[in-house]
Amino acid sequence: MKRTSRILLWILLLCLAWGTTGCASQPAPGQSNSRQSLNDGASASKEPSGTEAPANTAAPAPTPSPTPEPEETVTSLTFVAVGDVLIHSSLYKDAYTTEGYHFDPMFELVAQTIKDADFAMANQESMIGGVEIGLSDYPSFNSPFEIGTTLKEVGFDAVTIANNHTLDRGEQAILNAIGHWDAIGMTYVGAYRSREDQETLRIAEQNGIKLALLGYTYGTNGIPVPEGKDYLVNLIDPEVIVRDIQEASRKADAVVVNLHFGREYERMPNEEQKKLAERLAQAGADLIIGHHPHVLQPCEWIEREDGGRTFVIYSLGNFLSGQEGVYKEIGGILHVTIEKRERGDQRSISILEPALLPTWTHKKNWRQYKIIPLDQVTEQQLPGAAEYREKIRRHMTQWMPELTILTSTSDRSG
Ligand SMILES: [Zn+2]
Repeated sequence: MKRTSRILLWILLLCLAWGTTGCASQPAPGQSNSRQSLNDGASASKEPSGTEAPANTAAPAPTPSPTPEPEETVTSLTFVAVGDVLIHSSLYKDAYTTEGYHFDPMFELVAQTIKDADFAMANQESMIGGVEIGLSDYPSFNSPFEIGTTLKEVGFDAVTIANNHTLDRGEQAILNAIGHWDAIGMTYVGAYRSREDQETLRIAEQNGIKLALLGYTYGTNGIPVPEGKDYLVNLIDPEVIVRDIQEASRKADAVVVNLHFGREYERMPNEEQKKLAERLAQAGADLIIGHHPHVLQPCEWIEREDGGRTFVIYSLGNFLSGQEGVYKEIGGILHVTIEKRERGDQRSISILEPALLPTWTHKKNWRQYKIIPLDQVTEQQLPGAAEYREKIRRHMTQWMPELTILTSTSDRSG
């Protein structure tokens, strides 16, 4: 026992002696790090000989320094969305030329706004099955491929094709449409060519932000979905959408959900729309974009339990259609900025600067269709144009006073 204590005492004394000399030559904390970085890489070889640090300081014991706070990175993208593109026969007749269907003049006054956005989406309500199966009008639409090509050319990046007209002309029209979307490199969501296609989550990446795109419809005008082919159109089933949003949240930064829902021609959302939006927001949707009522319905924020908030527009109205009646002719281009903040493995998404450029579809004797920013519409074209602009402003901002109502000269580039 005694002997063991003596040995321990010796060991202790030796340690103390070694420790003191060690301390004397150890650089102060902080210096150690800067020296290390100086000696790193090329700078070490530039040091003149003879000034090297003494051997006992060349490799100082690593001093524990606090882990540096990871830097925050902020990235953003501008996102725009428009409502229904519903090609009645008057529109394809108007677009007809001996060289095919030319829809581009109809988009002339809004194309730049679409192009300026980092990402743009539309609801292609009528399937583009092409002329080979015969074009058709309401109630069973089929549209030429060229409307798809024009959407691509004016700057749209994706279309949602889940709506009550998806099955109008059956499976063939859907497969033809998808064939054309693929051929022109347009992302489509909501209707698919196979189970595998349906299960492939669409993620678009822009400015370092991954956007997951989803789309669903309340129904298909009573046309039954072909047996065993429910991938042809995504129907609204809250359980399924919640699961899709959860998967999308794991794989992407922001989740955009397109919903074809609500009642036609009603300017306010109903309880069902509000309940579904609330549920999908709580599941993690960042943006909910409504289509189908053919008229504009207001925007609102949904505060989420996770501390974030979801932007909802209940209906974007018609963007281009042959429908008549002023509120069915007024639609809009929704703008938001999607911002991603990242620090270490913390990530957050904010929807900022919500804005709407109201538009109106001009026609004369069912021809000369043109989408015009509402502020450019003259009294001659639409009696009371200025008043409608004010009515639309009040309507759309009623739950979101900070929603900016844009004019065609507003600077939203970037
Ligand atoms: Zn619809």
